[in-house]
Amino acid sequence: MQESHIDALKNPIFQTISQAAEELSVECYVIGGFVRDYFLDRDIPKDIDVVAIGSGIKLAEKVASKLNGNPQVSVFKNFGTAMIKSEGIELEFVGARKESYQRDSRKPIVEDGTLEDDQKRRDFTINALALSLNQDNYGKLIDPFNGIEDLGNKIIKTPLEPGITYSDDPLRMMRAIRFATQLNFQIALPSLQAITEHKDRIKIVSNERILDELHKIMLCPTPSVGLSLLYETGLLPYILPELTALQGIEEKEGQKHKDNFWHTLEVVDNIAHTTNNLWLRWAALLHDIGKAPTKRFHKKIGWTFHGHEYVGSKMVYKLFKRLRMPLNDKMKYVQKMVLMSSRPIVLSEDFVTDSAVRRLIFDAGDHVEDLMTLCEADITTKNPKKQRKYRQNFKVVRQKIEEVEARDHVRNFQPPISGEEIMKTFNLKPSKEIGIIKEAIKEAILEGEIVNEYEAAKKFMYLKGKELGLEITK
Ligand code: ATP
Ligand code: MG
Repeated sequence: MQESHIDALKNPIFQTISQAAEELSVECYVIGGFVRDYFLDRDIPKDIDVVAIGSGIKLAEKVASKLNGNPQVSVFKNFGTAMIKSEGIELEFVGARKESYQRDSRKPIVEDGTLEDDQKRRDFTINALALSLNQDNYGKLIDPFNGIEDLGNKIIKTPLEPGITYSDDPLRMMRAIRFATQLNFQIALPSLQAITEHKDRIKIVSNERILDELHKIMLCPTPSVGLSLLYETGLLPYILPELTALQGIEEKEGQKHKDNFWHTLEVVDNIAHTTNNLWLRWAALLHDIGKAPTKRFHKKIGWTFHGHEYVGSKMVYKLFKRLRMPLNDKMKYVQKMVLMSSRPIVLSEDFVTDSAVRRLIFDAGDHVEDLMTLCEADITTKNPKKQRKYRQNFKVVRQKIEEVEARDHVRNFQPPISGEEIMKTFNLKPSKEIGIIKEAIKEAILEGEIVNEYEAAKKFMYLKGKELGLEITK
């Protein structure tokens, strides 16, 4: 391995940092994700971490004074860090430090330290790589823990004894699993054992931080890598017990059901191939959670999960609340996907009628394509014949959706006759009759009794009014 890596430091910002450090007579280094990703040939990250052997804040201020437009320096005094945003890049400055931890907190006691002290406190050897920004050895790689070797071997290892590293800051357990998933690396066995041993320490990590990592895992090309590591290390029950409850195959009187946990992981991987929509991926992860509480065995029909979609959608709310996820339209979207997750399946198994398709579009609204994507990802049968059949069936449903929507426009259904017009026609004050007529018009359209147009709806309104004993006054 060559000694100097000036190539990594092409961005002129590094020369600026170097000069600023020289003027302050402090040493400084680029460290962490930027260096790792350079050696991995990944996209150049937008965040760059710089460690100064001295005050990171002072260095940041000096750098900012040299940059175009003198960008603002955001100082986090408590952490001894400072951040500058310049030309799409986030520069984070920190003074080299030595850390020691107490049992009940992720917050360390911090002292000034050397570069090596600072590298020791980093989570993984591949994240402890540093490139010198000092004029006498500019671009030199400083790698006391053989991070480069671990990069080559695709291995995630801690610089210090893993038990200490994970117990000190249990967020690192999530980070190890996230990096393994993102980079397609193996976690070294002693690390894996330490994570398993210290799993209950995850309790001191905030939900927000756990979620950050979970989202990153979910956005990977193969999220099951991370999800199964979470399962195998025993972390998953602390985070998503609804999912671990799906694990296992029960057998009664010779009848088995599938293992819905491993099935779910396959569904998540499938959907990761077709969408980057984080929330659709979450919907795939949660689509079967209602199956654990609804599982029953019946002598005649075997295993059932009646109403699991409804129960599951209710569980989504509790799960989002517990993990402090947003209880907004994203949650409603996931709930809706879970609630409707079997609808296209039922459709595809039967002769597809126009009215069933209209109802599906009406209920799913703008999310009808996402729902189809979820159902297609749900096909995990290993039987190629069945695979083909299911896929073909969904293709037919998709086609039907397009045809019906082009003709009937029920996707964002707007009643063709307003409540106001109903009131005027029959000289009504606000009353339940208006609702009854509106609902009847909607039903008639969805059932295909009338077309979704004003004139047809008007005629139907007259009929319905007559039925209700109303007089036309307009
Ligand atoms: P990415 O930005 O892709 O998530 P990264 O490695 O840059 O990856 P950051 O969270 O940006 O991760 O952190 C920057 C660096 O800070 C890391 O490379 C690592 O050296 C160090 N670091 C971050 N979090 C921790 C932690 N919990 N324990 C120890 N070191 C950490
Ligand atoms: Mg980073």
